[in-house]
Amino acid sequence: MAVKVNAEECVGCGACVASCPFGALVMQADKAHITEACTACGACVEICPVSAITREQEEKTAQIDVAAYKDVWVFVEQTEGQAKNVAYELLGEGRKLADAMGQKLAGVLIGDSVQPLAREVFARGADIVYTVEGPELKNYSTDGYTAVFTDLIQTYQPAVVLIGATNDGRDLGPRVACRVGTGLTADCTNLGIDAQTGLVAWTRPAFGGNIMATILCPDHRPQMGTVRPKVFKQPEPDYSRSGQLVQVENKVKAQDIRTRLIEAVRVCTVACNLEESEIIVSGGRGMGKAENFGLIEELANVLGGAVGASRAVVDAGWKPQPHQVGQTGKTVGPKIYFACGISGAIQHMAGMSSSDIVIAINKDADAPIFKAADYGIVGDVLEILPALIEEFKKIKQ
Ligand code: FAD
Ligand code: SF4
Repeated sequence: MAVKVNAEECVGCGACVASCPFGALVMQADKAHITEACTACGACVEICPVSAITREQEEKTAQIDVAAYKDVWVFVEQTEGQAKNVAYELLGEGRKLADAMGQKLAGVLIGDSVQPLAREVFARGADIVYTVEGPELKNYSTDGYTAVFTDLIQTYQPAVVLIGATNDGRDLGPRVACRVGTGLTADCTNLGIDAQTGLVAWTRPAFGGNIMATILCPDHRPQMGTVRPKVFKQPEPDYSRSGQLVQVENKVKAQDIRTRLIEAVRVCTVACNLEESEIIVSGGRGMGKAENFGLIEELANVLGGAVGASRAVVDAGWKPQPHQVGQTGKTVGPKIYFACGISGAIQHMAGMSSSDIVIAINKDADAPIFKAADYGIVGDVLEILPALIEEFKKIKQ
């Protein structure tokens, strides 16, 4: 798609210049001129009083041969040689899709010396593992990983690509999709096969979580999506499995990567490792003030769990964003989730409803959180939490 100014029609009024959110319109010789900053968003088109700006619709891409695209791929995100749990969750789900489509499941490992992880990937159901290794790929970088993944897709033509909706996955997925000319459904919470078309049915919350939208990608390949951690269970590893290892040459050079990792500062300790934690103690606005969050931390500490927070708490600056649970925070699925002084807004529930057991403490007996709770305590968190901490300490001793 491209935005164009018809110089003959343009009367040089300059009305469009201020309308561009990217500052991509300038006046040159009394005519509007579009610079390279244009993203073809089209915001200026309606503004022009003489209709001198037009946005050309992309011609429907020549029909691609969808049959040439085969197999289901999972990006196996890893840090320091450890795969993220979401990668294993997606291998389990990818296996089901591949079986339903009568195709193979492949894991994609990018990094430095990551080949030992291939055994784990085979054990979780992969038939093929693609590895691309090099010192330039030791740490995730947008430039490096995008170039490698794009090249892999263009070479091997997978039908489906699944990526975890982690910070890095959310960065990588859309870039790769754009480069290979396909679409991407972000932040999926369910996957399936559409009975009519045989396409992957990508389901994700829409309109603030009020409806679930199911999206298909009929015309482009691969079908791509990012999937939230913890929405699927990890498969049990089967170490008797093995498969085909494809080692692909790394073409990325250090100078291709425009960012340089100077130092990694760990701001997140065990307390905010929410996705991996079996117990989460979360606090909401009902905690009253930042200082009272000490009670949440103490209970989490006694139980060996992580500390979660509602968005109201994050917005108030009581806890940093990595602790936020919900639609715009993390999706968690612990064995036990304590919701303390949290009302249970739909956007919060979107992030914790797959918890095995929910224990809610709220002074309002009609708070919606009680509908999602297995155990509910109606009362003041500032009285109940100290009592719980005391009791759990006794049990621990
Ligand atoms: P409140 O809704 O104010 O609830 C506080 C609760 O504490 C009340 O139920 C009250 O009865 C109880 N309470 C008060 N005092 C006490 C006490 N002393 N003892 C016991 N109980 C007490 N929210 C998220 O959490 N995560 C998200 O990711 C998220 N994403 C959003 C995305 C969008 C697009 C939008 C529009 C909103 C989003 N929200 C999100 C915000 C969400 O709608 C709610 O506003 C938020 O979850 C409310 O947080 P809360 O439950 O802590 O506060
Ligand atoms: Fe600016 Fe969008 Fe118009 Fe391009 S299409 S000139 S980015 S307003």
